[in-house]
Amino acid sequence: MNRYIYLDHAATTYVKKEVLAEMYPYLKEFFGNASSVYNLGNESKTAIENARAKIASSLNCQAEEIFFTSGGTESDNWAIKGVALANHSRGNHIITSAIEHPAVIHSCKFLEQNGFEVTYLPVNEYGMISIAQLKASIKKNTILISVMYANNEVGTIQPIQEIGQIAEEKNVYFHTDAVQAIGHIPIDIKDLNIDLLSLSAHKIYGPKGIGALFIKNRTNIDKIMHGGSQEKDKRAGTENVAGIVGFGKAIEITSKDMDKNNKVIKALRDRFVNLVSQKIPDVRINGHPTKRLPGNANISFELVNAKNLLSFLDERGIYVSSGSACSCASLRPSHVLLAMNLPQEVALSSLRFTFGNENTENDIDFVVDILSQAVEHYGAPHCQDKFLADLS
Ligand SMILES: *Cc1c(COP(=O)(O)O)cnc(C)c1O
Repeated sequence: MNRYIYLDHAATTYVKKEVLAEMYPYLKEFFGNASSVYNLGNESKTAIENARAKIASSLNCQAEEIFFTSGGTESDNWAIKGVALANHSRGNHIITSAIEHPAVIHSCKFLEQNGFEVTYLPVNEYGMISIAQLKASIKKNTILISVMYANNEVGTIQPIQEIGQIAEEKNVYFHTDAVQAIGHIPIDIKDLNIDLLSLSAHKIYGPKGIGALFIKNRTNIDKIMHGGSQEKDKRAGTENVAGIVGFGKAIEITSKDMDKNNKVIKALRDRFVNLVSQKIPDVRINGHPTKRLPGNANISFELVNAKNLLSFLDERGIYVSSGSACSCASLRPSHVLLAMNLPQEVALSSLRFTFGNENTENDIDFVVDILSQAVEHYGAPHCQDKFLADLS
């Protein structure tokens, strides 16, 4: 393969070789079904419990509070629909934010079609919810608050501790989507009044198709996956043993190397943002200036169609994103940027760059060079006119 530069770590990451090495035996010699009673099944069962313990230890929760799922999407669906269904007799109101991942937003929309009422908290220009607004929107019939830990598009980190305190005072369940947070923000579940927390492996150099939901003991939640009695009869389906093993290893590595890794990617991100600001006119850095993930830069290039920038970079082996994977193909402006009150044309001229520790300073400098060529090319007056005309 030709040389490429990957700056889309918030979309997914490659599987680290140490992770792959631990997974391999569970795809080959230890293929037993963890539900079987013979020895081959026991190998799988033991491997699953080891991984569960690693994940629990990284969050400082109990192993029995970790349930494996097929990824962040299923964890979000389960947390929201499962709590809504189980607590319907107590109330039908859910509070979330306007900038959640589609897995949360669309789960909430589904519930709205089925007798639930949902409040979508607005965010400010930095993508931050307001604690006062959260407090004011809690009602007698509120059963769940779901606010993401850190945003996947702009990197803004929400005040999770304060939200948890409010949820506890008001006796409302609190779910947080921590898919972008793990590996970058130390999470100690004992310090935070979180009842449910979604995780995924493939954003932290683990395999795709495996995730987990932390469910605090005594949380009233229904299952949404019916079938066999796996995962203490809460989540049916034969366990993805190799995936679970890989997830355990990935979270172990990512927790151990968190500070070091954060330093590396923050330095790369800062170098990138500084160079872009110096070399490219009329840029706008989106997201919170300080309460943000270390490896995220979301940048608007005034009146330059982001789609054109994406393909210009792609042709030169540079992989970035226009925000969320889901709104890219459909040319819709990002719901996150719109919620931050950015005009449509600004939202459509924004790119997300997310860094990983295999990126180098040379990569960054090269990308900034290509990017300034791209902006010069597509920032020409006739291109800008066409961009604006296509919008109207
Ligand atoms: C990637 C992502 C998800 C979805 O996780 P999958 O494992 O890909 O289903 C959910 N929430 C956030 C914030 C994400 O970044």
